[in-house]
Amino acid sequence: MKVRTRVAPSPTGDPHVGTAYMALMNYCFAKGQGGDFILRIEDTDRARSTAASERMILESLRWLGLTWDEGPDVGGVYGPYRQSERSAIYQTHAQVLLDRGHAFKCFCTAERLDQMRLEQKLRGQRSAYDGHCLHLSSSEVAQLEAEGRPHVVRMKVPASGTATIHDLRRGDIQIDWDTVDMQVLMKSDGLPTYHLANVVDDHLMKITHVLRGEEWVSSAPKHQLLYQYFEWDMPALCHLPLLRNPDRTKLSKRKNPTSIVWYQRMGYLPEALLNLLGLFAVSSSEGDEMHRLEDLVRIFDVQNISLGGPVFDITKLNWLNGRYIRETLDPEGFAARVRDWALNPEYLMKIAALAQTRVERLSDLGPLTSFFFSGNLDLTPEALRNHKVKPEDLRKVFQLAIWGFDALAEWNLPPLERVLRDVAERTGYKFRDFVRPFFIAITGTPASVPLFDAMALLGRDLVRERLRQAITKLGGVTAAEAKEWKKLAEPEAAGEAEA
Ligand code: GLU
Repeated sequence: MKVRTRVAPSPTGDPHVGTAYMALMNYCFAKGQGGDFILRIEDTDRARSTAASERMILESLRWLGLTWDEGPDVGGVYGPYRQSERSAIYQTHAQVLLDRGHAFKCFCTAERLDQMRLEQKLRGQRSAYDGHCLHLSSSEVAQLEAEGRPHVVRMKVPASGTATIHDLRRGDIQIDWDTVDMQVLMKSDGLPTYHLANVVDDHLMKITHVLRGEEWVSSAPKHQLLYQYFEWDMPALCHLPLLRNPDRTKLSKRKNPTSIVWYQRMGYLPEALLNLLGLFAVSSSEGDEMHRLEDLVRIFDVQNISLGGPVFDITKLNWLNGRYIRETLDPEGFAARVRDWALNPEYLMKIAALAQTRVERLSDLGPLTSFFFSGNLDLTPEALRNHKVKPEDLRKVFQLAIWGFDALAEWNLPPLERVLRDVAERTGYKFRDFVRPFFIAITGTPASVPLFDAMALLGRDLVRERLRQAITKLGGVTAAEAKEWKKLAEPEAAGEAEA
């Protein structure tokens, strides 16, 4: 049987290095055995999925060189590869489960479920569906449907006993059924949840091995049960440890840049980033730590994956990147990389259009626009403090702006300006005074090309990181401050932002 693996990102934000890591592991596993690697877009969360995010994920993975044999852009015999285009398939399969008595329609309202959870909490119980609709008769169901009452479809799960999940790296994992909820499979809008769509697609797309993040271990019993309900063979599972910050907390953009776009814009080479991620599945006996994708494919072995939690160490990435630049490129090759990175006509044209009216001599261009060709700016706290926003407010306004920017669906001029005007208003500053520290944090100088054009061109990731660096320079943000400031942020921004 041909090995087939997949990566299944949800297009709900920036292309995350964790997605690259999962893609690389699945790619190496398949390619090492002459198999196929598939890309599937899991966009059933219609409120949070965006076409822009999907495009960036595809572009980032392609930039890394992780090409897929089948996917939404290249097609394939098991398509469509975008879950939003497969609704009818999930509906048919949910109906199969209903017909076989493995699932039931649940008409409980959000208010009833809230009340149920509250009571469970007060009793010190685990929050789980209480089975209220489990035994509705078919005539009761018909009656409720005739009344037009919305419903979800939930799966039945055993009330007691233990599920045993076999994991390629971890061996057998036991999970008690009484910790497993009667999972919603179809939402009231007729769209599936991750669990149903994922199982149905992995089966129909003939996936043989699923290498995915360890956060899905607790869902594995439900998935295994769904395979049994459908009378299908389950792919082999392997749960990979999540990437960590150097302090061993889960990798988060609060502490480290996590977007692949940032690494690209900073001038990391794709082979260095892949190399760092690949080392998490390479035995240290391999000696030299420089491995290109083809070497990683050859030496990859799930048994070498350390379960301790791979630390995504930017210092090590810098070291690897420097080695690739020095040891693998000749001057022509290096120049070609620099040109692709930022000295390409497209980027230069945009900068020229902003700078032309602001120079007297061509040589003024360098100092005026050097921040477009830099990573983090070397600013002192004094440089950031020297203006009209009170020093004690600076970290707060930068943080509020980050949250506002994170919540933007589109990265272009009007929304960028709207976010800053909004933060100015909320914090009681005049807009004119207010933008100055942003100007310095983002461009590094008190006067340059217009701020919002600069931000639009720099992109979300560099802007975010420069503001984050500025906050760090000014002493950082405590958890208590973040909590306090979130109350000032827009409600939707507060909901989506990571502190
Ligand atoms: N859409 C899921 C995610 O982004 C996929 C998990 C899986 O590989 O099954 O985490």
